[in-house]
Amino acid sequence: MTAQLIDGNALAKTIRADVAHRTDALKARGVLPSLAIVLVGDDPASQVYVKHKVNDSSETGLKATLERYPASMQEAQLLSRIAALNADPSVHGILVQLPLPRHMDASKVIEAIAPAKDVDGFHVASAGALMVGRPGFWPCTPYGCLKMLDSIGYDLRGKHAVVIGRSNIVGKPMAMMLLARNATVTICHSATADLKALTLQADVVVAAVGKRNVLTADMVKPGAVVLDVGMNRNDEGKLCGDVDFEGVREVAGWITPVPGGVGPMTRAMLLVNTLEAAERAAG
Ligand code: NAP
Repeated sequence: MTAQLIDGNALAKTIRADVAHRTDALKARGVLPSLAIVLVGDDPASQVYVKHKVNDSSETGLKATLERYPASMQEAQLLSRIAALNADPSVHGILVQLPLPRHMDASKVIEAIAPAKDVDGFHVASAGALMVGRPGFWPCTPYGCLKMLDSIGYDLRGKHAVVIGRSNIVGKPMAMMLLARNATVTICHSATADLKALTLQADVVVAAVGKRNVLTADMVKPGAVVLDVGMNRNDEGKLCGDVDFEGVREVAGWITPVPGGVGPMTRAMLLVNTLEAAERAAG
């Protein structure tokens, strides 16, 4: 079997077009969806990420403002800036780019964001809302993965999904989303005794570890859907995922590539969440 590709670039393009359309509708009502991005310090990867986020926003008609602060910024100053953004009705979404400098408590900073503006979905209130099935904001990466499954018309009811990785921003929320769609979910992590025994039973595997070749062809049930969240570098320095793509594509039914898979979908879902925040605020 050669797996069909789930093209994250193409799907993200469709989602951006929908966001642009809905943004126009909001603008016609006098509301300009607006995202405040806060970057503290000069982490090179973060600088690239925020640039993408600003460009993606402006390309879809959303307003994105990038606020840059030196790494020497005090936590209290950041908290007071977040309080001001919380209180500003013209700002619908607030994103504090992680990682923060080491002298700051990232959890405390994220918890300072008003849940109604938490478009990254990292606030504990957002996690709680997802857990109990209430409206909130879903973290962009697992939300993008779910959209990829939707794009192929995949019905998760009664399927076994294995999520490899249990971070608060990917693995755990992914598992909750799959569970909400009536899949049976197994969450694996570094202490999982026999990962292969579990993945071989899986109809869907989501790999979110950050290590190359965590999932190889011998670990995949024929026809399974494989979503690769990982972002790693191969020996040639090229971006690659957690999945041995060339091997697994011969066994899986569907597979996401890296690059061009989950990455662009993560970016697209931030736009969706920001627009959603503006729509909710507009009533
Ligand atoms: P993380 O916080 O480091 O979590 C990694 C998880 O993998 C942990 O739960 C860890 O288990 C588990 N793990 C480590 N080795 C394992 C093994 N051999 N077998 C099974 N599980 C193992 O990472 P993250 O933030 O979730 O990110 C995961 C990957 O996704 C990274 O490559 C990251 O760059 C990428 N990512 C991509 C996007 C995107 O847009 N494409 C977005 C976010 C993240 P323990 O909990 O036991 O330590």
